[in-house]
Amino acid sequence: MGHDAFRELPAVSRLLAHPRTERLLVRFNREYVVQGCRDILDELRRVITQGRAVDPAELQDEAILTRLESRLTTAGDARLQRVVNATGTVLHTNLGRALLPQAAVDAVLQAATQPVNLEYDLVQGQRGRREEIVEDLLMRLTGAEAATVVNNNAAAVLLALNTMAYGKDVIVSRGELIEIGGAFRIPEIMARSGVVLKEVGTTNRTHLSDYEEAITERTALLLKVHTSNYRIVGFVAEVVLADLVALGRTHGIPVMEDLGSGALVDLSRYGLPKEPLVGDSIAVGADIVTFSGDKVLGGPQAGLVAGRTDRVSAISRNPLHRALRCGKLTIAALEATLRLYLESASIADDIPALRALTRPLADIEDVARRALPALASALGPGFRVSVQDATSQTGSGALPTDEIPTKAIVIEHDFLGAHRIAGRFRQAHPPIIGRIRDDWFLLDARTIWDPLDLVPNWTDELEGPAPPRP
Ligand SMILES: *Cc1c(COP(=O)(O)O)cnc(C)c1O
Repeated sequence: MGHDAFRELPAVSRLLAHPRTERLLVRFNREYVVQGCRDILDELRRVITQGRAVDPAELQDEAILTRLESRLTTAGDARLQRVVNATGTVLHTNLGRALLPQAAVDAVLQAATQPVNLEYDLVQGQRGRREEIVEDLLMRLTGAEAATVVNNNAAAVLLALNTMAYGKDVIVSRGELIEIGGAFRIPEIMARSGVVLKEVGTTNRTHLSDYEEAITERTALLLKVHTSNYRIVGFVAEVVLADLVALGRTHGIPVMEDLGSGALVDLSRYGLPKEPLVGDSIAVGADIVTFSGDKVLGGPQAGLVAGRTDRVSAISRNPLHRALRCGKLTIAALEATLRLYLESASIADDIPALRALTRPLADIEDVARRALPALASALGPGFRVSVQDATSQTGSGALPTDEIPTKAIVIEHDFLGAHRIAGRFRQAHPPIIGRIRDDWFLLDARTIWDPLDLVPNWTDELEGPAPPRP
């Protein structure tokens, strides 16, 4: 039987000559199609060798070509795909953080498809610097004398330390030696930037005298790091930036603050917890402030640097700046986003991150309630869905302990656990990412605008919600 089955398999050349394959060859290159044929024939041979029963129809040219067509077209499906963010974390690092404002999307599209004056001075007709486009905007928005931009905030910290303190000591409080998700650790980034970490104080309390006593002739920088993803509460003491600046001035040592999720506007005026303002750190006298472009700022991934002219220009001239520079798509998106802060009548509407954070509770509840009927029927028997009070988070380390009231759909099942339900939702098209709280599976509607986004679409019966028969 095996021997006969082998003989029934077509040759690759016969498959290639088939009119259906010719149609594939208009779209795909020949090697890709040939490899697809070989892979399928190999798979069939393996099945035959293992002596498993093969349906003779599967060995027909037509069946193999059908397999080939679906293989080639789905293999082309991008790994990076749309998902529905129902986690309630607005700036979810694993889901790409901030969604860009429409103006930024338009700017990216133009820069991606047309030549642009990225590094070209239109007045002089000569080479310019790409960062200039956003530097002026950053200066106006933060009150800083100078500014620059690199690929992300981790790069900004690395570059600033390397520029200001290479081979020298940098003093940091032990309470600020943070780790951010994705392997960003202050001690490690300091080591890689070539500076020597001098930690002072204790985990919960650091005093100005701790910094003062650690200063020597090798000290090049006083560093303050915003403990963006956690808070120490209780018996705590930290030195405020103003005091650190005063100490630095006395000893002629610059002060840098890594804000992480620095805000450009006071978020408390939208009823949100107050996130440190970049402008405040500049006003207090920090020599350098670093922050992210895609956290509460709501723009593209970028590391923004604002501060004093002499420090910023040294950072811009560091050869590492060239290695860490932004691409044109980032510059385009960042310019458009920053301009909104200066020009928009309503940034809470125009910047999606702020729009989601400032969304009225009634709006969120309305979306959740409207999703219920379709959701219940997509899930079928055994499931219960209801809208309940929950809390959203800003995400990306911003405002870690401050939770924002929201409305979420709670999905329960007679015997399926929350993790199983979450897994099924991840298999939907597009995948729906919810959150588990106290063994309940939740879909937070804060970042959902179309109720149908919360209704899973399972193309394959096997992917559906029905549990296997006991
Ligand atoms: C997020 C964060 C970083 C890293 O910023 P990326 O833009 O993710 O590179 C650095 N420091 C602090 C304090 C942060 O919160």
